[in-house]
Amino acid sequence: MSLPLQLGLADALPDLSVPTRPTAWPDPELVLLNEPLAAELGLDAAALSDNAARWFGGGALPEHVQPRAWAYAGHQFGHLTPRLGDGRAALLGELMRSDGTPVDLQLKGSGRTVFSRRGDGRAALDSVLREYIISEAMHALGVPTTRALAAVRTGETVQRYRTTPGGVLARVASSHLRVGTVEYLAIQEDHDTLRRLVGLALDRHGTDGLDRDADHPALVLLEAVGRRQVRLVARWMELGFVHGIMNTDNTSLSGETLDYGPCAFMEATDPDKVFSLVDEGGRYAWGRQPRIVLWNLARLAEALLPIVDPDPQVAIPRAQAVLERLIAHQETAWLDGMRRKLGLQGVTATDQALADDLVAQLTRARADWTDSFRSLAEDLRHGRPALAGTIDGSWNTRWRARLEGQDPVATAARMDAHNPLYIPRNHLVEAALDAAIGGDFAPTRTLIEVLSDPFRAQPGREAYARPAPDGGQGHWTHCNT
Ligand code: AMP
Ligand code: MG
Repeated sequence: MSLPLQLGLADALPDLSVPTRPTAWPDPELVLLNEPLAAELGLDAAALSDNAARWFGGGALPEHVQPRAWAYAGHQFGHLTPRLGDGRAALLGELMRSDGTPVDLQLKGSGRTVFSRRGDGRAALDSVLREYIISEAMHALGVPTTRALAAVRTGETVQRYRTTPGGVLARVASSHLRVGTVEYLAIQEDHDTLRRLVGLALDRHGTDGLDRDADHPALVLLEAVGRRQVRLVARWMELGFVHGIMNTDNTSLSGETLDYGPCAFMEATDPDKVFSLVDEGGRYAWGRQPRIVLWNLARLAEALLPIVDPDPQVAIPRAQAVLERLIAHQETAWLDGMRRKLGLQGVTATDQALADDLVAQLTRARADWTDSFRSLAEDLRHGRPALAGTIDGSWNTRWRARLEGQDPVATAARMDAHNPLYIPRNHLVEAALDAAIGGDFAPTRTLIEVLSDPFRAQPGREAYARPAPDGGQGHWTHCNT
């Protein structure tokens, strides 16, 4: 078996990537293989597992594979870096999903590239497995995301805040085009390539239902990316997910969650919650994510302005009109999500206040975000006051009045189908990673299995649904993993 790879987008945009050679790690060993995903991509899992350590460990790629590193720029914590690029990743090429849509196959942790700057080009095995666990959990939760195909242990150690085994993640994405890709071309003033990128990104990721001819293609792209991104972040908010490093280079054009670094799920409700040690100002806190995604989309708009119209007086108001529509789209996305979380059918003018009040009360009580919504459904099913002792009785009265005419058992079932019981809780992820560092991958495999079916109770696995004893307060994640 060989890898049926092609170089689609990278071939069509030759100025946006450079050839690179993955490092051949000394003793690569396959530790995880995502067999259902392999099958969906037309790969034979048995044949793949025979070769995965050599291919994904970079040691011996098939002759026809010509790996490349993408160039991109990015606003990191608000500051522009004009040249970032894949400093430790290699695009192997494109595979086809069974529905005929292409995906990028990329190795992360595959060694130095021309974009590495002072970095070592490597990834720690625990960070590789973290991305594997959390991205697959997000997929099972129905969140658009890049996916993990395989994890390899390299046989080398890497130096981080501690010395750990090295790893490589083989991941797939609808593409690795980012807001930072557009910014890179804008900085280069390469308007021809920028125009081509706009067309290719619309071909690849679609218009999100917009009429492609209704506006300038760059503005159609802005609105399509914007809609996907604001809906994505609304889903993150619903799940208590904190991405942790929402720089424009980590913001995909596809609308998939991209670049899992210091991310984690919030346990005790707290809009100011951050997990990343480097995010001292709380820029990427849970409750700030909706504002930040709009900020990132404003950077995308700026980068596209020169091809919309050479005269900024003409281009700016046109982009501004799109951004204003995206703000409205975001309000709708959040409120629709909260209606689903609360089992509300139809739309009433008081829904916003009902949702906002609940968030405020859960915040005051530092209640477990995930657990609270499962408890609400359980209370409804049993005709008990909602979250007694955590929130006040008047909220319960308003919620019940809003549910008037709805069958409580059916409503509770719909809530449970939308609000997960199992999320990648930090203490579970950390315990699995600690075991993996020590060579025992069984806890990681079990955790992945539990998280693949997040909405239904799994008998005997109650511990996986329980919050951390301290509400997860003590958990910190390390950047530059
Ligand atoms: P990230 O914060 O992981 O999205 O990475 C930001 C930038 O730093 C990207 O250009 C990465 O390719 C680069 N980078 C991150 N870690 C490393 C590393 N260990 N070696 C080289 N480049 C890296
Ligand atoms: Mg990144």
